[in-house]
Amino acid sequence: MTAQLIDGNALAERIRTEVAQRAALLRSRGVLPGLAVILVGDDPASAVYVRHKVKDCEAAGMRSVLERYPATMAEADLLARVRALNADANVHGVLVQMPLPRHIDPLRVIGTLSPDKDVDGFHVRNAGALLVGQPGFKACTPYGCMKLIESTGEAIRGKHAVVIGRSNTVGKPMALMLLQADATVTVCHSATSDLAAYTRSADIVVAAVGRRRTLRVDMVKPGAIVIDVGMNRDEDGKLCGDVDFTAVREVAGWITPVPGGVGPMTRAMLLVNTIEAAERVAA
Ligand code: NAP
Repeated sequence: MTAQLIDGNALAERIRTEVAQRAALLRSRGVLPGLAVILVGDDPASAVYVRHKVKDCEAAGMRSVLERYPATMAEADLLARVRALNADANVHGVLVQMPLPRHIDPLRVIGTLSPDKDVDGFHVRNAGALLVGQPGFKACTPYGCMKLIESTGEAIRGKHAVVIGRSNTVGKPMALMLLQADATVTVCHSATSDLAAYTRSADIVVAAVGRRRTLRVDMVKPGAIVIDVGMNRDEDGKLCGDVDFTAVREVAGWITPVPGGVGPMTRAMLLVNTIEAAERVAA
């Protein structure tokens, strides 16, 4: 069996088109949806991500403001900028690019964001809303993974889903979203003693580890849906995921490629959260 590819680029394009239509509707009512992005320091990968986010916003007919600060910025100054953006009525979403320089506490920064503008979905109020099943902003990467899984048309209810990784930004919210969709969820992590024993019984596997070849072909149930969140470099410096893609695609039923799977969906879901933030204000 050769798995069907889940095309993250194509799905993200459809979502961006819908967001652009919603943005046009808001503009016709006199509201220009706006995202503010703060980048502290000069991490090259973060600079690329931020550029993409700004470009995506503009392509969807939304305003974007990029604020760049040196790595030496004091935490108090960053918190002051976040508070100012919280109070700016022209800004509907605020995002502080992670990671931050070591002297700045990311949790304090996220906690200072207005939950109503927290389009990354990292604020405790939004994370808590997901936990108890209330509306809130969902973390973009797992939200995008859910859309990828749903796009297969396969039922999630009653299936066994294994999430590898338990970060606050990917693994944990992913597990909660799958639980909410009535999957039976197992969360694995670095202390899991026999990872393969769990993944072999999984109908859905989401790998969010950050280590290539974490999920090998002998660990996958035939026909499973495999979502690869990982972003790593192989020995040639080429981008690759956590899944041994070439081998696993021969066994899985569905699989996301890297690149072209989860990455574009993470970006698309940021636009969805931002337009939603603007719609809430305009309602
Ligand atoms: P993270 O915070 O480093 O979390 C990694 C998780 O993997 C941890 O929970 C860790 O367990 C677990 N882990 C480590 N080694 C393991 C092993 N051998 N077996 C099982 N679990 C293991 O990373 P993250 O932020 O969640 O990101 C994960 C990956 O996704 C990274 O490659 C990142 O670059 C990528 N990512 C991609 C996107 C995208 O848009 N495509 C977005 C976000 C992240 P412990 O908790 O026990 O340490």
